Amino acid sequence: MAGSPTTTHCPYCSLQCGMTLTPREQGAGTVLEVTGARFPTNRGGLCEKGRSAAELLGHPDRLTTPLVRDVRDEPFRAATWDEALRRIADGLTVAQERHGPDAAGLFGGGGMTNEKAYQAGKFVRVALRSASVDYNGRFCMSSAAAAATKAFGVDRGMPFPLSDIARADTVLLVGSNPADVMPPAMRWFAAGRERGATHLVVDPRHTATAAAADVHLQPVPGTDLALANGLLHLAVKHRLVDTAYVAGRTTGWPAVKRALRQYWPDRVERITGVPVAVMERAVRLLAESRATMILSGRGAEQHAKGSDTALAWINLALALGLPGRPYSGWATMTGQGNGQGGREHGQKADQLPGYRMLADPAARAHVAGVWGVDPDELPQPGVSAYEMLDGLGTDGGVRALLVMASNVAVSAPRAAHVRERLRSLDFLAVSDLFLSETAELADVVLPTTQWAEEDGTMTNLEGRVLRRRRVTDAPEGVRSDLAVLADLARRLGRGEPFDDDPRAVFDELRRASAGGKADYAGITWERIEAEQGVFWPCRSEDDAGTPRLFRDAFPTPDGRARFHVVHHRDAAETPDDEYPYRLTTGRSRAHYQSGTQTRRTKALLDAEPEPAVDIHPDLAARLGVAEGGDLELRTRRARARMRARLTTTIRPDTVFAPFHWSGEQTINDLTNPALDPASRMPEFKVCAVALEAARTADPPSLRSPEREDPSG
Ligand code: SF4
Repeated sequence: MAGSPTTTHCPYCSLQCGMTLTPREQGAGTVLEVTGARFPTNRGGLCEKGRSAAELLGHPDRLTTPLVRDVRDEPFRAATWDEALRRIADGLTVAQERHGPDAAGLFGGGGMTNEKAYQAGKFVRVALRSASVDYNGRFCMSSAAAAATKAFGVDRGMPFPLSDIARADTVLLVGSNPADVMPPAMRWFAAGRERGATHLVVDPRHTATAAAADVHLQPVPGTDLALANGLLHLAVKHRLVDTAYVAGRTTGWPAVKRALRQYWPDRVERITGVPVAVMERAVRLLAESRATMILSGRGAEQHAKGSDTALAWINLALALGLPGRPYSGWATMTGQGNGQGGREHGQKADQLPGYRMLADPAARAHVAGVWGVDPDELPQPGVSAYEMLDGLGTDGGVRALLVMASNVAVSAPRAAHVRERLRSLDFLAVSDLFLSETAELADVVLPTTQWAEEDGTMTNLEGRVLRRRRVTDAPEGVRSDLAVLADLARRLGRGEPFDDDPRAVFDELRRASAGGKADYAGITWERIEAEQGVFWPCRSEDDAGTPRLFRDAFPTPDGRARFHVVHHRDAAETPDDEYPYRLTTGRSRAHYQSGTQTRRTKALLDAEPEPAVDIHPDLAARLGVAEGGDLELRTRRARARMRARLTTTIRPDTVFAPFHWSGEQTINDLTNPALDPASRMPEFKVCAVALEAARTADPPSLRSPEREDPSG
């Protein structure tokens, strides 16, 4: 027998596919059957992650009671909520009494609802009066966000609806592989190709997306910036620049044009490995079509020069006159489920709700007014995510940390070092669905609600605000993070301004964001239901919202977009005699982020039970590694071991490994934490690596003591 269906959204990526959950009796219980809903982004499509998401709701590993331990490394014991919350409040308070207000902090996640992200930032600033808050979205979107803010005056990943892709005549994807990571989005690309559109992909790997494209540019990892400058050099040389657009809608072009002289085609071919003839063809396709899009992804952005790389592609888009034109422009494809909303409402160290900046006196006054506190009480900006993790347990660093919806023990760069820093804390509390690798290190673990058990809002990759709906009750003993933060605030003596009702928190968020760049003032839950989501900015309930930005002006003081001079430089680590190859990392089709959820989903584990390193057959032959053989990867930070997958889709000087796995397969133990100076994005996407066929007699643990990290 079936119960009534409820429509909500997938818990995973930023496409936030609409899905319908229908209760069905199965054996002695009830399960939720998942089907795709006719939502504007996915039109009924779901990938295997979405289709299997309901498996997690009743998963036997699910945490259903708070866990505490009195001594580190001893087993956890079950505790009451009162004891667990008291211990967290005490841990945070003691750290602040001993080491000052910033010694207590919170690390959040890009999968949290808008309400939770908002409440997390407010909790740290108001209840803890601490500067120590940041989140894992810093490892995802911060380079694109920094670049878009500099160039356009605002960061909304896609300034147009996803469906516009189907209307573009030429689309260039840079470091983005939607065919694997968000398959339902491919319908818009396919529709464009059916209309005759031309698609180009820039990626060191011949991914499924590249295979479906007309042109594949396969640069050396870490050279996208030089490639963008090289294409723009050719656009100038062939008089393909839209001079009327540049004169009327931008500033800063003359300096960029001068700087481009250094990017003559032969030099760019030497840096990137992309043949001049391919660059010539690409720039003509981009410049000579009626509607052209440049879409960026983490492959271009997760570098120590990621924000400059994004700016280089934006320069190309501006020179060709794309942003603001119909079915044209530059956009970035956000990754995490609420990667867009999660970066708008104050869980970043330097931000207040609505994309206001914490250092701006007017912004402080507005938000403090909504929160009912004195603006002078609000702390100044704190440090970014990796800097916070790197400083845990040190003088001046955080001593007591609450982690929500993030598994930094696996997902942070130089993850083995981060685990050491977590162990050095005076106190660690983690709120999660499962006993993640981070939760295993904690003093207190809180069991939290998940997607289909809670109401709230999410903001998808288009800037469309959506409703997450409660479909089923959470297991007894589980609480939402909103309730946790409100209870902790009360125990810390600052409970009055905190609500735990998601609708009340959203209404407060609307007031706090009013007048900001990400203005949600006019968005109500009723409107979201009636209109299939509302695009921000939406400044009043009479405002229809803004599906397309930049048509008439950019939100900068003079209404113009800005060019920026940006130059290529080498990756923070380049191959040498000791580490002669390049390692790049990313997502695989069946898994998601640190794998906390997808490694517990049978259908996904069946599809991909273990990770594999993509390696070119020529390189594998030189190393003596056969298909399926064990490969040891070694960087200046650590070692890992994975099965080899021989494929010609990867360059012979580069290997690719997914980052969803733990233990000996924690690829982020190997990645380089060198940071982008503007966005503080770590260099996940390229580092120097040594490769060796693994000997079966090796000891179980290959971990080596940390070496001095040259990146600092
Ligand atoms: Fe979920 Fe993303 Fe797959 Fe859609 S594409 S079903 S949002 S994981």
